[in-house]
Amino acid sequence: MKEIAKKDPESLIGRAFHFAEKVHRNQKRKTGEPYFNHPLQTAETLNEWRLDEATVAAGLLHDSVEDTGTTVEDIEKNFGKEIGFLVDGVTKLGRIKYRGVGSRLENMRKMILALSHDLRVVFIKLADRLHNMRTLSALPPMKQKRIAMETDEIYAPLAYRLGMQHLSGELKDLAFPYLFPKENQWLKETVPARYEERLEYLKKIKPQVEKALSEHHIKPLVIDFRAKRYSSLYRKLLLHDMDTEKIYDLVAIRLVVGTVSECYAALGIIHEKWPPLPGRIKDYIAMPKPNSYRSIHTTVIGPNEKIIELQIRTMEMHEEN
Ligand code: MN
Repeated sequence: MKEIAKKDPESLIGRAFHFAEKVHRNQKRKTGEPYFNHPLQTAETLNEWRLDEATVAAGLLHDSVEDTGTTVEDIEKNFGKEIGFLVDGVTKLGRIKYRGVGSRLENMRKMILALSHDLRVVFIKLADRLHNMRTLSALPPMKQKRIAMETDEIYAPLAYRLGMQHLSGELKDLAFPYLFPKENQWLKETVPARYEERLEYLKKIKPQVEKALSEHHIKPLVIDFRAKRYSSLYRKLLLHDMDTEKIYDLVAIRLVVGTVSECYAALGIIHEKWPPLPGRIKDYIAMPKPNSYRSIHTTVIGPNEKIIELQIRTMEMHEEN
């Protein structure tokens, strides 16, 4: 963002950058940092999500009406009707304060209303919320709890419904310590040792996977280890009498290969090496999820009788997912 603003100050992003920097100049966040950091981070996130220029610019400007003397008319005059509309939409969403279950439906309704006008307003709000959650520790406890609850009950499910599972999970993880401080403490004390152990184990089997695949002339593009999120881990543990042994996907492997036929070939090679658990093979390539998610999932019994969860997909699927 900074680079664009420097290189091309007359571009849309450049002008929004300098405008926002100016109107927030004398403000500070509760964390003590300059306020402008917040719209800047929000815009960076929107840019990472590969949203259009107007949305990124509106991300830079999203708090300028709420927190400074600027009006929507000022924004429109400087940046046009489209960006004025986006900033106005985010400002209005921000005025809806979550007050527990009673106002929840009302909240959802307004969100969905905003959604139906222009989805981009909701994306800006989600990017805004992500940064606010990342800096939540600076706020007083009462506010922390309200914002965490609102995030957990409204924004994370909303992100999920928009197909943004990763964001949804991150928002839930960020909210978790504020909503369940004791449980969070317990997890922090209990899980890491097991987690380290499993990570070590996965590091050992990675070359074994590579070798088996290369014997069939398949070169994996990516082999990742995936760690289970604390918030979802806790929900899973509740279902399994808090027995960490029973959680299959505490850590898992994600395998990205070149083509669809290599996905199936890789599945066969893995199953030949390590037996699959019955009922855990899911072919979301032949039958994508309703949100178009595609991948093959399987769970196998690896060396030392340990359970490994695998996801197999192509790069195209990986990016789309
Ligand atoms: Mn904001």
